[in-house]
Amino acid sequence: MTSFVHSFSAPGTPDRDQLGGKGAELARMVQLGLPVPPGFTITTAACRHVFEHGTRPAGLTGDIEHHLALLEEETGRRLGDGEQPLLVSVRSGAASSMPGMMDTVLDIGLNDETVAALARVTGDDRFAWDCYRRLVQMFGETVLGVPAERFGELVAAVVAEHGAEDLAGVGADGLRDLVERGDALCREVAGRSLPQDPREQLDLAIDAVFASWHGERARLYRSRFGIPDHLGTAVNVQAMVFGNRGAASGSGVAFTRDPATGDLGDYGEYLPDAQGEDVVSGTRTAVPMARLRELDRPTYHQLRAIMGTLERHYRDLCDIEFTVEDGRLWILQTRVGKRSPAAAFRIAADLVEEGMITEDEALVRVSGEQLTQLMFPQLDAGSAGPPAAAGLAASPGAAAGRVVLDNATAVAMAARGEDVVLVRPETRADDLPGMVAARAVVTARGGRTSHAAVVARGMGLPAVCGIEGLEIDLTTRQVTLAGRPVFAEGDVVSVDGGTGRVYCGHHRTVPAEVTRWLEGENVESPLVSAVARLLAHADRTRRVGVRANAETGHDVERAVRFGAEGVGLVRTEHMFLGDRRTYVERVLIGSDAEREDALRELHALQRESFAVLLAAAGGRPVTIRLLDAPFHEFLPDLTELAVCAATAQVRGNPNQALEDRLAAVRRHHEENPMTGLRGVRLSILRPELVVAQASAAFEAAADLRDRGCPCDLELMVPLVSSAQELAVVARSVAQAADDVAARRGRVPYRLGTMVETPRAAVTAGPLAQRADFLSFGTNDLTQLTWGLSRDDAERSFLPRYLDDGVLRSSPFTTIDEEGVGRLVGLAVDEARASRPGIPVGVCGEHAGDPASIGFLAGLGVSYLSCSPFRVPVARLEAGRAAV
Ligand code: ADP
Ligand code: MG
Ligand code: MG
Repeated sequence: MTSFVHSFSAPGTPDRDQLGGKGAELARMVQLGLPVPPGFTITTAACRHVFEHGTRPAGLTGDIEHHLALLEEETGRRLGDGEQPLLVSVRSGAASSMPGMMDTVLDIGLNDETVAALARVTGDDRFAWDCYRRLVQMFGETVLGVPAERFGELVAAVVAEHGAEDLAGVGADGLRDLVERGDALCREVAGRSLPQDPREQLDLAIDAVFASWHGERARLYRSRFGIPDHLGTAVNVQAMVFGNRGAASGSGVAFTRDPATGDLGDYGEYLPDAQGEDVVSGTRTAVPMARLRELDRPTYHQLRAIMGTLERHYRDLCDIEFTVEDGRLWILQTRVGKRSPAAAFRIAADLVEEGMITEDEALVRVSGEQLTQLMFPQLDAGSAGPPAAAGLAASPGAAAGRVVLDNATAVAMAARGEDVVLVRPETRADDLPGMVAARAVVTARGGRTSHAAVVARGMGLPAVCGIEGLEIDLTTRQVTLAGRPVFAEGDVVSVDGGTGRVYCGHHRTVPAEVTRWLEGENVESPLVSAVARLLAHADRTRRVGVRANAETGHDVERAVRFGAEGVGLVRTEHMFLGDRRTYVERVLIGSDAEREDALRELHALQRESFAVLLAAAGGRPVTIRLLDAPFHEFLPDLTELAVCAATAQVRGNPNQALEDRLAAVRRHHEENPMTGLRGVRLSILRPELVVAQASAAFEAAADLRDRGCPCDLELMVPLVSSAQELAVVARSVAQAADDVAARRGRVPYRLGTMVETPRAAVTAGPLAQRADFLSFGTNDLTQLTWGLSRDDAERSFLPRYLDDGVLRSSPFTTIDEEGVGRLVGLAVDEARASRPGIPVGVCGEHAGDPASIGFLAGLGVSYLSCSPFRVPVARLEAGRAAV
């Protein structure tokens, strides 16, 4: 790239990084032969130069001059000309779409002289003054920083003085009055007017668009969506076309398919006699696209044809901004449209069906994150009774919370841990902080393409928009519907963005249809077919197995229904929570007699539990992990016990048993239990525990065999750091195996080890010599690699780290690729070099995290084991990782 400015009609593949999304798509549409008003793009490189040096790069002004001259030549009009004035828009457009987050100024080029010329050439006085008042307002707001409310008040005053209902009822004189008073407002608030020199207007607008990259709402948007801060925006300068030239003109937004459901059909909105801003801002309620068909049939058909061309070109859902000027159609923007999770699956599967994309491509277009959302429960309409209000189903999902009527309250209440529902007349870009804080959004105005709807869908936030007759009174903090109070700030409401209904009170949710289908119910719907189709393809494609972590027969059964190929982790300590804890306590610190009894009981309990799990798994592998918890978790609380003993003393009846128990708990007290006597260390100190657990597993397997049920048993040793530790435990296990074999015949099993200490990872080679399989416990591995306690860090400094950007995500949620991930990769390679083909699994939290699965699969692990609910997500992500 040599120049900082590129014409929309320049040849070659448009470079998105330089031209931004909007500029690149405008250039592409010109190449596709679509009717795009001419113009040029100032590159992101120019913007970055301005940020770095505080001034425009040398040559930029000349480049703009040159392209402006070309534009004047092409349109036959000149900027500032008293006969044939050229009007342009100055539009932001970053490489990653940030809808509505930065500034745009329309109608640049008007001043007291050119407004008269525009009136003359169009023969329409009112129209010319309508453009001028728009320029004063947009320039005032975006370049001069005059608050939008001030203009709002001014418009309201002028409308009232003219006895009209809205601006449409105000004539040319009224609009001229509005221009004058708007300009006075600029002088009052910003100390200056709209410049009369159109070149100066243009330059100031360009600089303002650059600067809007650093605006608060743009920053917030980037941090929410992980867009880097240094990229900068491109600026598009484009000849104006006018949707505000009367009844044969208008502006609209259209989708090639329904962005909420993926259905085919007409989705979009059209506003006659309006410029584009009016549609997006939701200040006037637009009519559905289908109305355009009645208003202007040829234009409607031309638009449908263009939408077809765009869909075939992008091979995806597109959204389009268009304007009709006096019956002539112009396309002002297109992009691959944002969509709800349900629409993502539907559209991907439909495009495969239509032969537009391959199944592999379809898989890449959906994500585990979206599937997670489709599995969330929905509001139970049956139990909720009649809705309090109903509008458009703008973004699916269900949530409940307290009504809040402004951003600051939403943010403050959310910070106190309250669930809030943001209720606004409409949302604008300034409402983003409130939307981020809220569980759901409700608006009175605006359609499915309004700001609220678009942003909510992108965030996966339930939203109901366009509730007709909903009035929000910010003084009384009351919300009324058709004049009757429905709820007040602070009331709890439940919002169903899938149906567009809002209910008073907190309501029950029901399982989503996708979840019901996964559970084995016979659900027939286009969405379920789409999910089924893509999951089946993921299963065919993926090279990584998917298992589940489960401790109950119920969970194993669900996991199997959800597609798990086995149980990768049975946390046996989970079987000794609550009342059962004392079995382990007695084994650990009881008298000799108590220990014998407790071991026998523990054996019996485990034998039964294991048999249930093995049976539920139906012959699929089940990995039983030996007891793993910090020692103290099995003991009574030291302080409580000390108090009991002291009380007994004081009362004059000291209790020897209690004293002995207290002494034992004291003896075993550890300062750092997480790095203390746990996992394999306990197994070595108390081999009888290993023998009891292992023989329970073997007996359970033998019981099943006797009943003719298949089973595939694995035993796994936790927290191992050296091959010698594993060897010691292997001997106890072998002893139990021999013992059971003598009575019941041999039970085949495999013995493996967890890799969850950094030492285990770097000695995976020698470990693999002694183990039949390895499984990464990425939770402990993260904790020990970083040297930070998960339980404590998440409550103390991690939140601050995330806020300040020291960390981009919690390493306990998404795998730390550079550190922990590197250890995993190294261990996989060394284990395989030492013992080719050794199965290596991952059974930590990360195995079910959509953002980690692709990375882990890429390291060549054999299987992922995650919570049952995450199994479908892991299947899908593993499939995506393989295409
Ligand atoms: P955003 O990125 O916030 O959507 P845009 O740059 O797309 O901002 O502009 C805002 C509105 O102004 C859109 O509705 C667009 O269609 C309209 N618009 C932009 N440029 C022109 C133009 N040259 N002629 C007519 N309308 C325009
Ligand atoms: Mg736009
Ligand atoms: Mg662990």
